[in-house]
Amino acid sequence: MAPSAISTDRIKKAVVDAHKKHKSKRGGKNASYIPILGQVPSKLFGVCVATVDGQIFTAGDARYEFALESISKVFTLGLVIEQRGPEQFRGKVGVDPTGHPFNSVLALELHNDKPMSPLVNAGAISTISLVEAIDAEDRWRQILGVQGDFAGRPISMSEAINASEQATNFRNRAIAWLLRDGGYIYCDPMEACDIYTRQCSTLVTTVDLAVMGATLANGGSNPLTGTKVIARANVAHVLAQMAMEGVYTRSGDWAYTVGLPAKSGVGGGLVAVAPGQLAIAAFSPPLDEAGNSVRAQAAVAQIAHTLQLGLFNVPPRNE
Ligand code: GLU
Repeated sequence: MAPSAISTDRIKKAVVDAHKKHKSKRGGKNASYIPILGQVPSKLFGVCVATVDGQIFTAGDARYEFALESISKVFTLGLVIEQRGPEQFRGKVGVDPTGHPFNSVLALELHNDKPMSPLVNAGAISTISLVEAIDAEDRWRQILGVQGDFAGRPISMSEAINASEQATNFRNRAIAWLLRDGGYIYCDPMEACDIYTRQCSTLVTTVDLAVMGATLANGGSNPLTGTKVIARANVAHVLAQMAMEGVYTRSGDWAYTVGLPAKSGVGGGLVAVAPGQLAIAAFSPPLDEAGNSVRAQAAVAQIAHTLQLGLFNVPPRNE
């Protein structure tokens, strides 16, 4: 396993400092359009870095389990690119940012119902329909399995979160039918929507999220278990999507200010990947207007800056 280039003392300090600095940061609101997410204590705040050599650094509520939500899109994307290959995936779903909110129907209208990006709801539902499965149960089993492979431990779904989401996911059902109309859904639309809702309702900790990101940072091999989850070549495609559309309509701003591929979810989680080095994860429920956790963004950005991880940083030249 490749050693992380940054000293453990620097990482440890960066994690503790980021948690300390932002734990009383105000602003944002829990997602409430999924009722159960509105009930999660807003002051929870966890931070974790996981390195490609399997070291874990935590601060705050890093072992609290929360809903993975939109971050699930990343791992199903990895599974489907493995099964279908990057070219077929590009044609059947698309790989361009929409520039619109994650649940936009307008974005579909503008592109003849083509989802464009796998990291918005439409594209994620289409991606799920591409899993090579014999039936719905098999499709779900594979998706849950890949989440566990990325995390390095079995992941399970919260029945309570799933029930709350299934009772309110009318918009996603409408999106699934529009995809069906446009020819961009490749199984029963309601099966894809049901499994999309379930994959959003799984429980992870901030540590899990960091390990999931570190598996990407490590070229697709889980740094804790050694399991080869996806091919190194496919990691590049997944990270490119995270860089393009990972933090909703703030993705451009995030690239400009932080410069790392990342993905957030309305449960309050956020993970950013420094390829070949480490992943930074944070969790706190209050969200900004785009759907990103306010504290998690601040903490992850601070750690990325402190450790100088931005991919667009040009190293100084010795002249
Ligand atoms: N289950 C949520 C939805 O479909 C996930 C949204 C998100 O985290 O972006 O609305």
